[in-house]
Amino acid sequence: MAQRANPALTALVDQARAATREAAGAFLAAAAGADRVEYVPVAGGRAVMLARLAQRIDAGATATCRHVRAGRPVPLTWLAWAPGLLRCVRCTAAAAAAMTEADVRCHGCEGGDRSTVVLTRVLLPAVVVARPLHASGPLTAVFGLCARCREAPDPPSTVDGGS
Ligand SMILES: [Zn+2]
Ligand SMILES: [Zn+2]
Repeated sequence: MAQRANPALTALVDQARAATREAAGAFLAAAAGADRVEYVPVAGGRAVMLARLAQRIDAGATATCRHVRAGRPVPLTWLAWAPGLLRCVRCTAAAAAAMTEADVRCHGCEGGDRSTVVLTRVLLPAVVVARPLHASGPLTAVFGLCARCREAPDPPSTVDGGS
C-alpha cells in the first residue's frame, strides 16, 4: 500500500545523497594523488579493519569531532592512526596535514613502514534510518595494511544465527 512521503525523511535522504556525492569526490581526489591506484573488494584484512571500526563504534570508543551534529549526514573520516575520532572534512584535513612517518604503518599488525604498507581507503555511503529518523555518514575509513595482513581471512560474522 502506497504511503504519503514523509517530508523530513525525504529531506534527510536528499542530504545523505549530497553528502555521499561530496565524500565520493574527495575519495576520487585522494586517489588521483596516489602513486598507484588499485580497486579491490572489501575482503580479508580490509574487512577485518572495518569490523574493528564497527566494534569501536559499538563500544563507544569512537567519538565524532565537535562540528558533527548527531543524526545529520555529513562526510566523516576515520583515520586508523588516530582512531578515537570520526572527523568532519575540516578536521580530517588538519589531521592529514599533521600525519607523521610513524603513522604510516600496518594497522593490522602495527608493523611495517612506507615501503611495505599500502594505504587503503574504503568509502561507506551515508545511511538513513526511518524509525527513529536518523542519518549518519558517509564514512571514509583510511588505514594501512601490510601484504600479510591484506591476505588475512575474513572476520567471523558477528550475526547470531540463533533466535
Ligand atoms: Zn570537525
Ligand atoms: Zn600487517
